[in-house]
Amino acid sequence: MQLDIERLIEDFGGPGRLAEALTRIFPDEPVSRAAIYKWRERGSLPLTQLNKLAQLAANQGRTFNYNDYLAMAPMSAATGRNHKMGDRLFIFDTTLRDGEQSPGASMTREEKVRIARQLERLGVDIIEAGFAAASPGDAQAIHAIAEQVKDSTVCSLARANDNDVRAAGEAIKPANRGRIHTFIATSPIHMEKKLRMTPDQVVEAAVRAVRQARNFTDDVEFSAEDAVRSDMDFLVRIFDAVIQAGARTINVPDTVGYSIPSLWYQRIHTLIERVPGSDLVVWSTHCHNDLGMAVANSLAAVEAGARQVECTINGLGERAGNASLEEVVMAVKTRSDLFGLTTGIDSTQIVPTSKLVSTITGYPVQPNKAIVGANAFAHESGIHQDGVLKHRETYEIMSAESVGWSANRLTLGKLSGRNAFKTKLTELGIELASEEALNAAFARFKELADKKREVFDEDLYALLSDGVGAVELEDFKFVSLKVNTETGEEPRAEIVFADEGHEKRAASSGSGPVDAAFKAIESVVHSGAELQLYSVNAITKGTESQGEVTVRLARDGTIVNGQGADTDIIVASAKAYLSALNKFHGKENWLNPQL
Ligand SMILES: [Zn+2]
Repeated sequence: MQLDIERLIEDFGGPGRLAEALTRIFPDEPVSRAAIYKWRERGSLPLTQLNKLAQLAANQGRTFNYNDYLAMAPMSAATGRNHKMGDRLFIFDTTLRDGEQSPGASMTREEKVRIARQLERLGVDIIEAGFAAASPGDAQAIHAIAEQVKDSTVCSLARANDNDVRAAGEAIKPANRGRIHTFIATSPIHMEKKLRMTPDQVVEAAVRAVRQARNFTDDVEFSAEDAVRSDMDFLVRIFDAVIQAGARTINVPDTVGYSIPSLWYQRIHTLIERVPGSDLVVWSTHCHNDLGMAVANSLAAVEAGARQVECTINGLGERAGNASLEEVVMAVKTRSDLFGLTTGIDSTQIVPTSKLVSTITGYPVQPNKAIVGANAFAHESGIHQDGVLKHRETYEIMSAESVGWSANRLTLGKLSGRNAFKTKLTELGIELASEEALNAAFARFKELADKKREVFDEDLYALLSDGVGAVELEDFKFVSLKVNTETGEEPRAEIVFADEGHEKRAASSGSGPVDAAFKAIESVVHSGAELQLYSVNAITKGTESQGEVTVRLARDGTIVNGQGADTDIIVASAKAYLSALNKFHGKENWLNPQL
């Protein structure tokens, strides 16, 4: 609760007359003019004075109701449409950078480009495409995305050093709009134990990195890593310095997922109030979900005036993940009465994007996940169903269609030609690297259409998720499989696959057909990898659906996920296993910034 003290004092004739009047009726407790000024300064007054004001008003023969002087609560005041930060909320997606740090979620360049194209279709303002200095592969992926994405800003992360900033600047060069996002840790524990730098040195490095980044692009973002545990005065100092050096976005991350909404609101609010030049920049937040509050904290930051939220599709990210893009966007949209903000997101692209990311990374979406979970719009209870059938809004605060849950879209059939296939892929944002890749994909499509009468968008995504788009990168390629299973007999698998173009044949028995197929592959490859996860999902409804298998393998601390899709789940499993083996390459020396 906050009172409009200014108006209240005026209604009593101004500070001087109010002080006099109060002193006259309560001579034992004289009130000075200075005391009244103090109320005004603080924006509040002691409760005892409120009672006296009521009595004074009564003496003067008028009614006094302090409710008349209630200003908007600070939360709603900050989210008000007239807030000086503007009413456009920028969505910064870091699925390809922070999301990729989930164990095993690493993606090939082709997969990253495909996701980036879909993020562009979704209407994301800024795509953080990677961390250029992490590896040559990461830098190449950012470069490829910068070449292909035209509507969204393409961003690379960089630590606050010359080498990283240069790598980021080179990687984003082809972009229509490119951003460098540089960061350094600002909490005492990080500065002392990790960086071994004094606060002065940290400010100096940050300023230098921002200045250097400005040589590559005008669009420079600065993040204070572990801002949640940083000293407020130090944050004000470093943000002031980097704004002067040319940073245009200031990001305040809760790197370790430690904050709660009320504290995060306070922190962002205070920073915006205290940092000189805060109105020259867009304030941003980046929250982790260790205590399940990433989205709540992000929205609290928005209420405090942040106008950029960093988030990921499906909340993907290391540990408990990042703030989920779909939840942030739909909260702001569904409660526009509270936030009064708009985003550039086309919400009907949310579910297709979620499915694409889940397919490519092998991270399934839990059924009860908000917005994108399979049950998010399924009403089980009889009373709810009745209500929803009579009038949707009785129990639904948003519609399934508005976030892209429509019936599976029928795309192609058995008779569709190569051109129709190619057009459809372009429509879905899938671009194949070569004619050879297109031919291979088309052959796979024909095979699938023979087995399954109707081919949906989801089938095409799956068809391409197990490596067809990346012909030249693959070592292992599935050719054929024969499996014998009979109750009471030990299952046996015979597999044929290509290893860098050479045909390999292998056979093995196992506890089940999948085990037999994996053992057959290992009898030739000897990867020594440990199977950590095996999961099967039906891509569309019905028993004709393709099964999509995810296999997670671990070896020497490196974790990879492979995917395979087929109407035969044993074949899908073998493809997934080979796809995972392919991903072990180029995974060495992986850097993981904990932003
Ligand atoms: Zn992060």
